[in-house]
Amino acid sequence: MLCLKRIYNDSIFEFRSMKKTDIKYILISHTRSNNHCLSCGTTENMGRRKYCSIECRQRLRYKLNMRSGLLKALNTKFATFYFTEPMIFLDVLPYGAMSLFSFIFPRTTGKKPAEDFSTMANVLGNAWWAERRRTNKRYIATQHILERAKNKNTTSSIKPFEIVEPARMAKSLTFLKLDRSDLGTPQLQKIIKSAYRQQAKRHHPDQGGDAAVFRKVYQAYEQMMDWAENPTFTRRRGFPDKWFYEGSTNRWIQPAPIPLKTGV
Ligand SMILES: [Zn+2]
Repeated sequence: MLCLKRIYNDSIFEFRSMKKTDIKYILISHTRSNNHCLSCGTTENMGRRKYCSIECRQRLRYKLNMRSGLLKALNTKFATFYFTEPMIFLDVLPYGAMSLFSFIFPRTTGKKPAEDFSTMANVLGNAWWAERRRTNKRYIATQHILERAKNKNTTSSIKPFEIVEPARMAKSLTFLKLDRSDLGTPQLQKIIKSAYRQQAKRHHPDQGGDAAVFRKVYQAYEQMMDWAENPTFTRRRGFPDKWFYEGSTNRWIQPAPIPLKTGV
């Protein structure tokens, strides 16, 4: 099989062709060296989670989407948002542009990246409107804002990955106490059977288990065995560790979920 790898931060992508589609990069492994919340950056009580709470994730998404007017004004095709301890970054690729514009702002002590993003968006938005009023021309205002960014002579870091996930498997995995990474192993059917046997032992009504739970475990087993025979995937675009905006949908999406490991 064709096997080219592309390494991106802690992630490994494999180049391969999928049924009925063109050639894609697929995220095959992603080890996060330091588990921090992808929304606020905290490392406390994170365990294996990617966000410290659902509210935290939603808060950043809300703040990002609130300011999508700025991205529209900049004719944005793709944008990414990410942060480090001292800085926040908004990378913008306008339609038709050959290079990337990177807005870099320092973080404020005690504030979350979501709040610093809002401040940055206000500063840039106000400057856009001031220039627009001064010149009465949109494109000049847009140019004026883009000049504030660091111009990166590349577009590759903003071209999204195709993220491929097993379709509608989350519940079945939970009922069988399996992990998403198990789906990539060559002995998947064996693993499903043994996971089913374990859960069946616990929940079988003859052993004092709950009949309704047992039924769900059995349904999960059937669904997963079907999937092992004929794996189906859903796909979306994005990054494992950056928030991603697409101009065509005018929406921000969160970093990719726990990836599928394929048996390679
Ligand atoms: Zn958080």
